[in-house]
Amino acid sequence: MVKFVSLSSGSNGNCYYIGNEYTGLLIDAGIGPRTIKKRLLERGIPMNTIKFVLVTHDHIDHIKSLGILADRVDIPVYATERLHTALSNHFCTRGKLGGCVRKTVLDQFNVYDENIRFIPFVVPHDATQTVGYYIEFYGVKFTFVTDAGNITDDIVKYSSKCNALILESNYDLDMLLGGGYTPELKLRITKGNGHLSNEQTCSIIRRARHKEMSHIFLCHLSENNNTPSIAVKSAFQALESVAKDAARDVVLLPLPRRTASDIFEFQERV
Ligand SMILES: [Zn+2]
Ligand SMILES: [Zn+2]
Repeated sequence: MVKFVSLSSGSNGNCYYIGNEYTGLLIDAGIGPRTIKKRLLERGIPMNTIKFVLVTHDHIDHIKSLGILADRVDIPVYATERLHTALSNHFCTRGKLGGCVRKTVLDQFNVYDENIRFIPFVVPHDATQTVGYYIEFYGVKFTFVTDAGNITDDIVKYSSKCNALILESNYDLDMLLGGGYTPELKLRITKGNGHLSNEQTCSIIRRARHKEMSHIFLCHLSENNNTPSIAVKSAFQALESVAKDAARDVVLLPLPRRTASDIFEFQERV
């Protein structure tokens, strides 16, 4: 079985696991290395099964422990050339990636082994460069969009291919505009290269929903400008609007901010 676990999701730290009995990978490493190890072990996953890390972008909530992991565990770190250049200058990762650097090519399959391949695609966000990932892992298809300021054709395209969609649903617009953030911060979030609102997330779901999509996980929820129930309610309505059976059949869940999620299992398709 292929397993998916979110170890943490949100501005306090992001780290997601996909793996089976042979290989495990992390998407981002934005929480402490001890926490990663502990949360994996609590779910029966030893740290030494992690074989590599995929990086989405160079914000601290995604790379906090990347340098330590690469240094100590000595596993490959996959990122685009632009991101690796940024990581070589970032205080979290400077001088620590050494032989772990693996440069990825955008918009095409990058191959880890015959059963694991992935496509990074650029999404609009205010880091050096930010990518989403479309991942095929032993035939199970995942699409990750953890931080994005707007809907793009690529986001819809890759979301339309996956069995499990991990999609940002950062803020409720009314909560954000009526809340206590400064006007500058509100603008940073909403201006197109910040984060996805619940409404934008719903629009992606409406456009990308297809019969093979069995799971939707809402990630990177704002602590101040959203609630899990508001985000799920709007996503559920979006699913219902495209197909009644979709709303009933799809597993739709928010990923917790400060704890790990349950383990979700998918039948291998190879
Ligand atoms: Zn983030
Ligand atoms: Zn970010």
